[in-house]
Amino acid sequence: MYDVEEIRRDFPILDRRIDGKKLVYLDNAATSQKPRRVIQALTEYYEEHNANIHRGVHRLAEEATAAYEEARRKMARFLSAPDVRGLIFTRGTTEAINLVAHAWGRKFLREGDEIVLTEAEHHSNLVPWQLAARATGAKLRFIPILDDGTLDMEAAERLIGPRTRLVGCIHASNVLATINPVERLAELAHEAGALMLVDGAQSAPHLPVSVEALGCDFYACSGHKMLGPTGVGVLWGKPEVLEDMDPFLGGGEMIREVHLDHSTWNDLPYKFEAGTMNVAQAVGLGAAVDYLDELGMENVREHERRLGEYAYRRLSEIEGITLYGPSSDRTGLVSFSLPDVHPHDLSQLLDEEGVAIRSGHHCAQPLMRRLGVAATARASFYLYNTEEEVDALVGALQRAREFFGAFA
Ligand code: PLP
Repeated sequence: MYDVEEIRRDFPILDRRIDGKKLVYLDNAATSQKPRRVIQALTEYYEEHNANIHRGVHRLAEEATAAYEEARRKMARFLSAPDVRGLIFTRGTTEAINLVAHAWGRKFLREGDEIVLTEAEHHSNLVPWQLAARATGAKLRFIPILDDGTLDMEAAERLIGPRTRLVGCIHASNVLATINPVERLAELAHEAGALMLVDGAQSAPHLPVSVEALGCDFYACSGHKMLGPTGVGVLWGKPEVLEDMDPFLGGGEMIREVHLDHSTWNDLPYKFEAGTMNVAQAVGLGAAVDYLDELGMENVREHERRLGEYAYRRLSEIEGITLYGPSSDRTGLVSFSLPDVHPHDLSQLLDEEGVAIRSGHHCAQPLMRRLGVAATARASFYLYNTEEEVDALVGALQRAREFFGAFA
């Protein structure tokens, strides 16, 4: 039984009040809140097991190493990754994609090669490829989005071809709530002899994910958006692809042998984990994955799907509002704008009522241009949000509309 009130009791921060008002936290696409169990896992790690990993043979070093490697196994299981060697800890999605753009892109891309992305990418799956393209002479091509916020798959079929070396796409949009057909894109990529990279920052926290079923070669996600601590995330890659890549960062742990003039590389996944990693954060992410597993990702998805639909319907009742993205098959977030009100002013006014939403370009400036706006407001829901919180948002927006209406 999915009991949202019971779940809420696991998140201490949800009891906070903002200037005496109940906190309504609707900025989960930016970062999620953390259950007590994750906070306790961090404390316990530092109070009882802290040491550097993979190096010492003393008891604490062994315990810390075991906890870190257990977190890796949990995360691999969570993503249905067939081989734990492909599971690399990073600081988050951004670092994971930069890793691929450097370690694969700079080694394999040549002048005239093409990287196919979409118009709706977060900057973290765009800028690293701009840098890789500049360094190698490769070109970027973009799959357009249709007016309803879904991908133009006919254009995708035309764009992905013999020059394509990699297709990169957000699994779920942080602005439009679209769930992209990344399985089909992976098929198209592979038919063309290219690799498929999925930016899973907005899917791993919200949908059941199997990297095997998606058929991708790389999948990136961030721990802090899925109940885990900041500073840790994951790149999953097919081991045979990772084996062929150059290292990303050089230093301790990623080597097998070091000579003054050359080095050889450690086995996967350590080849890509240079220096002291964010050990406590990885352990905390393992605790987050336990929590999500116990709730069941199917149940999380169903809760958010219903809440997202409810929010979409309630928000569409507000006079003059524009809602972005498709009207169905969405994740649990809604981007919107009100006529004559800047989203920043709107979120400031909502903050005075304790309602935390996001406003801005959401790190997707090309997508904002495509939508013809400079910014939107965005309410993003997670497994602990309720219909009452949606009602609080709608009520606050109605009052904001009246307030700004008085000046229009
Ligand atoms: N990709 C998408 C779709 C996102 O929504 C985000 C974060 O908002 C990122 C990538 C970047 O994640 P991080 O800042 O954790 O690296």
